[in-house]
This record gives sequence, C-alpha cells and structure tokens, in this order.
Amino acid sequence: MAEHRGFAGTEPPERWPPTRGRPRPEALNRSLETLPGVGPSQRGKLAKLGLRTVRDLLEHRPRDYQQAVGETPISNLFGEEEAVIAGEVRRVSVRPTRRRLTVLKAAVRDESGEISAVWFNQPWLADKLQPGTQLRLRGQLRRNEFHVRSYDLDGAAATADFAPVYRASEEVTSPRLRTLVESALPSARDFGDSLPASLRARERLPLRFDALVALHRPHGADEAERARRRLALDELLLLQVGLARIREGTEEAIATALGEPGELAARYRQALPFELTKDQEQAIAEIDADLTAAKPMQRLLQGDVGSGKTVVALYALLRAVEAGKTGALMAPTETLAEQHFLTLEPICTELGVRTALLTGSVKGELEGAQVLVGTHALIQEGVSLDDLAVAVVDEQHRFGVEQRQAFAGKSRGSGINGPRAKPAGLSSGTASGAAGVEQRGALAAGRSPHVLHMTATPIPRTLALTVYGDLSVTEIAKPPANRKPILTSWVTDERGPEAYRRLRKHLDAGRQAYVVCPLIEQSETSQARAAEAEAERLRRGELREYSVGLLHGRLRPAERRELMARFKARELDVLVSTTVIEVGVDVPNATIMIVQEADRFGLAQLHQLRGRVGRGAEQSYCLLVSRAKEELTDNARERLQALVETTDGFELAEKDLELRGEGQLLGTRQAGLSEFRFTRLRADRELLERARELAPELVAYEGPLNDEIDRFFAGAEADSLA
Ligand code: ADP
Ligand code: MG
Repeated sequence: MAEHRGFAGTEPPERWPPTRGRPRPEALNRSLETLPGVGPSQRGKLAKLGLRTVRDLLEHRPRDYQQAVGETPISNLFGEEEAVIAGEVRRVSVRPTRRRLTVLKAAVRDESGEISAVWFNQPWLADKLQPGTQLRLRGQLRRNEFHVRSYDLDGAAATADFAPVYRASEEVTSPRLRTLVESALPSARDFGDSLPASLRARERLPLRFDALVALHRPHGADEAERARRRLALDELLLLQVGLARIREGTEEAIATALGEPGELAARYRQALPFELTKDQEQAIAEIDADLTAAKPMQRLLQGDVGSGKTVVALYALLRAVEAGKTGALMAPTETLAEQHFLTLEPICTELGVRTALLTGSVKGELEGAQVLVGTHALIQEGVSLDDLAVAVVDEQHRFGVEQRQAFAGKSRGSGINGPRAKPAGLSSGTASGAAGVEQRGALAAGRSPHVLHMTATPIPRTLALTVYGDLSVTEIAKPPANRKPILTSWVTDERGPEAYRRLRKHLDAGRQAYVVCPLIEQSETSQARAAEAEAERLRRGELREYSVGLLHGRLRPAERRELMARFKARELDVLVSTTVIEVGVDVPNATIMIVQEADRFGLAQLHQLRGRVGRGAEQSYCLLVSRAKEELTDNARERLQALVETTDGFELAEKDLELRGEGQLLGTRQAGLSEFRFTRLRADRELLERARELAPELVAYEGPLNDEIDRFFAGAEADSLA
C-alpha cells in the first residue's frame, strides 16, 4: 500500500509546509551557531551573557544608544575624540596577525582626503567593502588610522548615529553584538504578534516585528523608546494575564481571625529599647488590620537593609502567640535563620514566650514552642499547620513560587500549578514539592496562616504589586531617625594599610568591625579555606593585637552560633567573613567594614554587605578596596562609584538594573518567571497600570499568547535545564 501513498492525494501530509512570511516562533529557538561567524567557542562566550538562541539575541535590549555626532571631513580628523566620517571605499585588505586576530583595512576617501579604516576580527566584512562602496563610519583616530566602532553601508545613515550599545562582556563586545543582531534581525518576523489586532489598533501599538527592528536600528531616540514601550507592554501583559488566570482559579482560603492586639503586644512594645518609627507604626497598623480578618493576610513588607523590618515581623509573630497559636519565621538560609533566632530569642524569653530553632541541621525542642524560627525545612518537616496562625517569610524573593504558595497554603487545588489542567496553558510542575503541605494544611483544619513576606529588595511599589499580584505592600521607607548614612570610600590596594589603620582606630575606641574576604567563585569549601588563610594573615599582621573571629559557610551551625554570640558579646573585635554575613547579622556596635577586592562583588551584594554596619547611632564607615582603577572593567568602576555616591537602595537598584538588566533584581527568576527584558522599573509605571487595565480582556483570549504566557511563567524551569 505504501507505494500508492501520495498518488491519490487522499492523505494530506501531517503538516503543510508553512507559507512564506508566516511567523515560525520555533525558528527563534535556533542556536546562535546558525549565524555567520559564530562557532562553538563564541557560542560559549555568548552563553555567558545569557545569549543562546536567536530569540535571546533579538530580545537583548540595547542599554543605550550612541549620541549623534556630526560628520568630520577626513582631513580634519584630530585627536582621539569619537568622530564620524563618510566616504567611498578605494581598496580593501585582510591580514591575519599573531594570536589569530584578523585586521581588515579599507582605504576610505572623501572630498578632503583619504584614510585607512581598520576593523578587527570581522574578516567577512571584506566582501561587502568592494571598491566604490559608500559608507559612513564612526570611530576614533589612532596613529593615523581610523579605528571603526560602528558603520553603515550604502547610505543608511541611521546606525552610526544611534548605534545600539549592548550589555556586553570583555569577550563579546558591544560592536560584535551589533553585527550579530544585524544578521539575526530578519528573524524578528518569527516573533509574530500575539495581541488581537483590535487592541493593537485601539492602543496605537506598532507591530511587534517593527518594534524589534526599531529597537535595534532606530532612526532616533523617540523611535527607540516607542519600540521599547511596545515590547515592555507585551511583557507586562503576559504577566498580568497570567496572574489574572491564576487568581481566577484560586479558591477563597480561610484564616484564623486574631482579634485586637492584647497584653503581650503591649509588653513587647515596652520591652523594645527604642520608639518605633512612623513607618514601623504604620506597618504594624496595617498588619493588625489584616490579622483581625478571617481572610489570610498576604502582605509584602518592604524596606531597605537595616530599616527595621524584623522588629515589625516579631510583632506579627507575637500576635499569633497571644491568640494561643504559633508564629513561624522562615529564612532562606541556615545562617540567616540562626541569626534571626539569636535576635528574637532573648526578647521572647524576656516576654515569657517559648522559641525553637529548626533548620536542616538543628532541630530544637518543638513541643510547646510558640515562635518557631527556621529554614524552609520547617515546612517540609513538621510544623502543624492547624496551630500556625502567622508565618513570616524573610527575603521571600529568594524562594520559588512553590514555597511561597505552600506556606501561604492558599493554592490548594488551584494556582499556577493547580489542576486547572491547562488554564490556557499555564505550566504545571514546579509545585510538586509543595503539594504535600497544601494537602496536610487543607486536611488539618482547612485554614491558612496569615503571611507576611519580608524583602530588602527595593522594588517600586507598583511593580511589587504587579509581580506579586495578590500581595498588599507595606513599605518602610525611612530608617530609624538616629541613623547616620554610612560613609563609603573606595581605595585601591596600595592604600590598603591605611584602611586597616582606620579600622584599628575604631577598634581602639571600643567599636567592632567586619572584614569581608575576597569572593572566589568556586566551592564553598575553597571559599572557606581562603577565608581561613586570610583570617590567619590578618591575625599575624594588621590585626595582631585584636581578637579575630572567622565566619564562613563551612562552619557547623553550633560553631556559627557560638561565634555570633561571642561577637555580639564583644568578646571578638573583628569578624572576618565570607559573604555569609550578607544578610541578617545585626550588631549595632560594629561601625566599620572593609570589603577586600570589592570589584568582584555585585552591586546589590555590596549594598547588602554594607548594611551590616550603620545599625546603631554611631557614624559608620565602609571601605571598599579594589585593584588599581585602570585594571577594572568599566562596569566594576561604575558599581563602586555608585556605592560611594549613595546609600539609597532604590537608586542603587536602578543603577544595578542599568548595568545588569532588569530581571535579576526583581527576583522574577527566582519567583519562577522569566526575566523582564524590556520593562524599566521606574519609567514604566504608567505602562504597568495600563497592562493591569487591559489584562481582563485578554484572560480568555486564545492563540499564540498562551504559549508566550507559558514560556514567561516557566522561565525558571527552562533556566535550570540550561
Ligand atoms: P531589617 O530587618 O530591616 O534589616 P532590623 O529590624 O534588623 O532591620 O533593624 C536593624 C537595627 O535597627 C536593629 O539593630 C534594630 O534593633 C534597630 N532598630 C529597629 N527599629 C528601630 C527604631 N525604631 N529605633 C532605633 N533602632 C531601631
Ligand atoms: Mg534584618
């Protein structure tokens, strides 16, 4: 029979070949190796920038555009200022050099004269630079040659003026990315446009294809911005529509209503050695209002490091205790959990409240404990959810969606991962670990705890609302008034001894200090070993006359606890540490910190580290030590400079975004969402509101939008597979 196939034409092929011009989204998943000039080695280097597929490349948003520069006649070129020239190609030559570089030279002539223009490592360009070709070049004069940074062939004057500047690396430069994007740009058609045409017309949105092209090749700044906004709106819509679908499938959960604050809450306030700030009072009022309802609290408590969130969190926990229930504080790491425990335990004991610590390696006496502190092992092991009235989840952006939901206990049979089998394709699968708890919770009493999420990641309020959709947001905007902003200086190695002199002055005045060890990107074990060596070096050298403790991730929990207790009790003058002190460590008497090789740390990380000082009324200092400025990348210089200039977490977050791209900061990745590629936190508030308004009309809309929502919400999974 087989030989008759196709003859009668009764059996259609499984799929018709796509017609030309129809978007083929699958084509966007092609490896970058399919582009000219990309081999395995470059593929690896691109992957380090997060660029693996044609889609990644086309979605790599320029972080800036070059400003327009007027043309200079060739004979007037002078100095090394950036300049633009325009002329005609006369001759071309390609030469290999040592170290497998190639140098392409073209003699270019305009009415005023001729110059040799030089391109490095772009031998394939030679074919395009036939004698007679008109071109426009942007670059610099160097030793009588013109080093080209960007170029336009045959009269297209756009890119040389508004050439995109990409987030790049030393291995893959921005100009190289420009060339690659250029060759991938025809594929932009494969994105299609998933929004209904009616909506597009009403909102006067450009086609997505046009927007992508304009983003990478704008004729001017306005056009680039309009394009970016279209793409940002797409992203925000994916998020909003996805969240709306989740909400649709969520059952109403029930919590225990806690009543008005009572005697314990009052005693707690009295026991605090300070007055609460206005923002803290406001936060407490909002929490109280939530707790008196039978609907589970879902509140995000946001505040910069040291702004006083923990004090508020403990208040919420004690509200559970006075209602005869349990409160639990959950932290993302053991160190942080232990740290919280050290902070909470004394005051709880003073108040007659029983506490227990529960982490992967420590299992305190849970029987009768009223406030539990632990890592998420808490959830997985046995907290009885029927007693749990208030849960505080610290640094919740570090958790995946599943833990958040599990702790909230609210996604019973619903939500992103619930049985709405494929609510227009929301992905399933991340929450399997959480299911057990959900069920236990549901079986126990059908109740969910009130949940307070704490985060020090400065997310603008509107955006937090967006990303966390269903959370109410409280912000502690101002730190306690007695705080003086930390003074930060940045010095290079050769002034290291001076930094230690300053540190010793503080020690001699009865203060304490931190020294943060260089970051080494290997195992925690080698990090620990390096820290040991560093502590030893300091004990013999700069810090000879002081008692020096060493904190790293390889210490056993008991050792760590003892060490922290000794530091708090001032038995130790200096704590030498790896980044494990990044969060949670709270010793107000520590007033100075030295960060060694600070250029290796990320901006957000340095901000967190620095937040370990400046926690009391004393003026505190942070000294960032780096290699010589000339040896640093531009990016590292900008990071350190930003830290010197401001202590404002929001401002630093913006800077971080600019330097790194948006998604990491938001923690959308960790939350199981894809990164935002086009959205800008601050600038796009209006757009965000618009997306919220538009989402309802798209909730039931089918088509390619569904696949995109799927992909967006599956970001973390896809990432962990890569
Ligand atoms: P966060 O959790 O936001 O990083 P914490 O709650 O740990 O901040 O508070 C940081 C430090 O400030 C702690 O030493 C805490 O005791 C102190 N603190 C908190 N609230 C106040 C206040 N209202 N006045 C003075 N000090 C405060
Ligand atoms: Mg804290």
